[in-house]
Amino acid sequence: MRVVFLGPQGVGKGTQAALLGARLAIPALSTGDMLRAEVKAGTPLGQEADAIMKRGELVPDEIMLGMIKKRISEPDAVRGFILDGFPRNIAQAEGLDALLAEEGRPIDAAIRFRAPRELLLKRLSGRRSCPVCGSVYNMETNPPRKDELCDKDGTVLVQRPDDSEEAINRRLDIYVTQTKPLSTYYEAKGVLKEVDGTRSIEQVRDDVAAALGLTAASSRVGAQ
Ligand code: AMP
Repeated sequence: MRVVFLGPQGVGKGTQAALLGARLAIPALSTGDMLRAEVKAGTPLGQEADAIMKRGELVPDEIMLGMIKKRISEPDAVRGFILDGFPRNIAQAEGLDALLAEEGRPIDAAIRFRAPRELLLKRLSGRRSCPVCGSVYNMETNPPRKDELCDKDGTVLVQRPDDSEEAINRRLDIYVTQTKPLSTYYEAKGVLKEVDGTRSIEQVRDDVAAALGLTAASSRVGAQ
């Protein structure tokens, strides 16, 4: 199954992509995570992306399309993938469709997660992640068991540099002007599904499953 997750920063796409990926045994591909790995490794691409990301702006489309093309051609993506954070604008969506059309494997579903801006701002300011294993927490909705330490490896959690108030606002503005129109794009293709992102992690997980025609899972979710 090939699925695109659409929705503003802080709506829970990353958490849900990891859950769905584990359930379907397909990779959850976050372009934000891929870029952060490039920055951390100090590659030329990472050096170029670093300043753009800190400002909360978008990395150029050609770079992103090249990155996705390479990643979805890897063996673990043959059975499908979930895209989290890509496409971010119409040009990227068209580029992705062109890539997939070459291989005759189009997008099966685009899920749009919705939540009001006040909730997103609250969630983003509470977001923390583990610099070692990448686990994501939220001090309000999904806190670690102990202080601000990762449940998996005990590392002190950090806040993303682009989760500053200024960068958050810029990213949400870009979402509204550039990314939100993708709903119309995927609706026209008949693959758009809508999910309420204000519900609990477990409820949203089940709503995503229902939207994709899967049966609901019943277990409670821990940190992802
Ligand atoms: P995210 O983790 O999805 O919030 O992405 C963090 C940052 O990475 C964004 O604010 C952008 O600077 C960059 N980024 C991630 N995905 C894309 C994309 N598809 N196109 C352009 N820039 C991206």
